[in-house]
Amino acid sequence: MKSHDEMYIDGAWRPAAGTDSIEVVNPADEQVIATVPAGTALDVDTAVRAARAALPGWAAIPPAERGTYLAALRDGLAARRDEIAETVVAELGSPVGFAQAVHAGLPIAVADSYAELAKTYAFEERIGNSTVFHEPVGVVGAITPWNYPLHQIVAKVAPALAAGCTVVVKPAESTPLVAQLFAEVVAGAELPAGVFNLVTGLGPVAGQALAEHPGVDLVSFTGSTAVGRRIGANAGAAVKRVALELGGKSANIVLPGADLTRAVKVGVANVMANAGQTCSAWTRLLVHADQYEEAVELAAAAAAKYAPGDPRDAGTRLGPVVSAAQRDRVRGYIDRGIAEGARLVAGGPTAPEGLERGYYLRPTVFADVTPEMTIAQEEIFGPVLSILRYADVDEAVRIANDSAYGLAGAVWAADEAEAVAVARRLETGQVDINGGRFNPLAPFGGYKNSGVGRELGVHGLTEYLQTKSLQL
Ligand code: NAD
Repeated sequence: MKSHDEMYIDGAWRPAAGTDSIEVVNPADEQVIATVPAGTALDVDTAVRAARAALPGWAAIPPAERGTYLAALRDGLAARRDEIAETVVAELGSPVGFAQAVHAGLPIAVADSYAELAKTYAFEERIGNSTVFHEPVGVVGAITPWNYPLHQIVAKVAPALAAGCTVVVKPAESTPLVAQLFAEVVAGAELPAGVFNLVTGLGPVAGQALAEHPGVDLVSFTGSTAVGRRIGANAGAAVKRVALELGGKSANIVLPGADLTRAVKVGVANVMANAGQTCSAWTRLLVHADQYEEAVELAAAAAAKYAPGDPRDAGTRLGPVVSAAQRDRVRGYIDRGIAEGARLVAGGPTAPEGLERGYYLRPTVFADVTPEMTIAQEEIFGPVLSILRYADVDEAVRIANDSAYGLAGAVWAADEAEAVAVARRLETGQVDINGGRFNPLAPFGGYKNSGVGRELGVHGLTEYLQTKSLQL
């Protein structure tokens, strides 16, 4: 697998300050496929200085022209779509079909949306006798996780660039290769030097140095709630803007009268996608007591169709999880579910037959899950579904909201208005009605411990803007 042993800083690939490196492992066969430099605080400082130096020039470019650069980025990504998918298959273990459609397709759509928004957004408006300017916040430090490694970079970089900000990205240590590919695309789009910079490295070293650097005006972080909490606290102390996209434990409520077969089938697909490593996954399926056993049978049968396999095979729908640590963590949750009395109806903690090598897990479904169980409360981040029972709609809403998180959710009903009424009662940032359809322009982000701020579309753009009013 192609990799750089340098950092992309100030418009060029440059040697890292130190000599440490990070091994990138293919989760399908546990082979080391590449090494990348482990950046230090020194590299972060060089990158932040480059971003600061580039800021006045980039911010002064008319937004529509920034949109032209973003269109070039979109085209650069589109031209390398297969390579993006291949890279994400190799470092994340995502099945190739999903990698093509989502890991490559979504960033192209997001880059496209910001190419357009840069041209159409009203960066200047009149309010009475005032002219209000929406100006870039400044230098952005973007820290991203491994589960949607390119999407999460583009969901921060594209709006930041559209707004007139400059950026330093610190990607997850397990998926740095697609980040390096993105830097190559940036170079190909001929963005001015320093506008985009990439520092690979460990979270507690390079990530922390970036989050705490005084030259960073806004930290945009996607990852675990534990790290997000610390970054938020530090940003508060420094009076610095912060955006946090954290975990989730989303509820999928099937109301009586809904198409149960479809709701369960789509619900299981949602949980198994990306081997369950999706922060917005509907990991709690809530079904009325009268339909409960039928739903359990449907879910167990649907899960059985997700046979784990090599992510490079076109027919594979469930690949490995990203790392041994992640596999062991998920197994721990499955053991915990059994120990706390949930009924295992599909999968389990053992390795799938014939797939002892690679970080594979079996598609797992638990029935008789009650709201206080660990598997109903904590984010598992693996192919594990918990099915809970409710007696009436009020109880369904109560169970759905009985969570520290509030990222996403789903409601299924025969009557759309009934589903919308229930969705409005959920403490969560987005809800899909009867399967919905992903909208890359709709705001994405969480209530409660799922985060602060929104990504995507115009709401994502405004995260990177600050306002100035002139009274005339
Ligand atoms: P993580 O928090 O360990 O890592 C995320 C990023 O933060 C990585 O780049 C890591 O290197 C860096 N990091 C780690 N420690 C740091 C520190 N002390 N200071 C600064 N940076 C640090 O999370 P992860 O295990 O990589 O990702 C999985 C988690 O991310 C899950 O909980 C998932 O729900 C969440 N997530 C949320 C969203 C969302 O949009 N809400 C999207 C994807 C993932």
